[in-house]
Amino acid sequence: MRGAASVESRTVPVVTFSDNGPLVRSPSRPATAPVGRTKAVSARGQEMRIRVLGCSGGIGGGLRTTSLLVDDDVLVDAGTGVGDLSLEALARIDHIFVSHSHLDHVTSIPFLVDTVCWMRAAPIVVYGIKETLDILRAHLFNWKIWPDFTQIPDADKPFMVYREIRPGETVKLGARRFTAIPANHTVPAVGYVLETAKGALVYSGDTSTNDALWEVVNRTQNVKYLIIETAFSNKEREIAAASKHLCPDMLAVELKKMRAEPEVYITHLKPGEGALTMKEIGKAAGRWRPRMLENNQEFSL
Ligand SMILES: [Zn+2]
Ligand SMILES: [Zn+2]
Repeated sequence: MRGAASVESRTVPVVTFSDNGPLVRSPSRPATAPVGRTKAVSARGQEMRIRVLGCSGGIGGGLRTTSLLVDDDVLVDAGTGVGDLSLEALARIDHIFVSHSHLDHVTSIPFLVDTVCWMRAAPIVVYGIKETLDILRAHLFNWKIWPDFTQIPDADKPFMVYREIRPGETVKLGARRFTAIPANHTVPAVGYVLETAKGALVYSGDTSTNDALWEVVNRTQNVKYLIIETAFSNKEREIAAASKHLCPDMLAVELKKMRAEPEVYITHLKPGEGALTMKEIGKAAGRWRPRMLENNQEFSL
């Protein structure tokens, strides 16, 4: 960790926000980003590339917790897999959409901000519902677990800012749209719909039985991909229900509420139970041909 004292002398340009749009950077922001952009960004507007950085319910043996990298500048959740990115790739992250406050989804945010803040000209924007951001303020970036990077180097020119979103609200970043959708979890939580003109990917976030999710899926045009959690096997159904996750039999009941026909990918499998859980999913919900989401898997929209 780098302490506050070592970063106080650094300066960043003034950054403002439009009400419903992306960052509007001041003229002092360089025309190009602090580090070189890849071809993925030059293609922005035509498509969105999504890469899985982590999709496990735990760690060990090469497993990483939840994170999706969109093009080279957006994260949806920031689990342990973010740490696999190069320093240059880390410095390109401008936006982080957080589904909820649990550690497996936010653990890389403190390290990311601390690692790259000196390389960046604009703050990293952390999006979440009010309850989630309040928890991050009170319990993570609270000067005890980690410094409050919304106050460093000072509150007017911070390295990180929070941006509150409401379920149903859409954030547009160029031609890319990110919409928070309801989730049913032990803490306030959302999932996200990622969309371009070409189609949509629905990410459930951590959720148990969730009729509101299916209302969203059923009214969203051209849902190409559904990434949905199944954190436990059937023998742990009671734990799944108590911790507000899904098990295969619960997933099957949920999928019956879906009228769209997307490719279905399963995430958040418990380490050591992936094969069993996928077998149970095949038995209970085979009609939707669910596949296990894999690290580094890519999707295009
Ligand atoms: Zn959770
Ligand atoms: Zn989780």
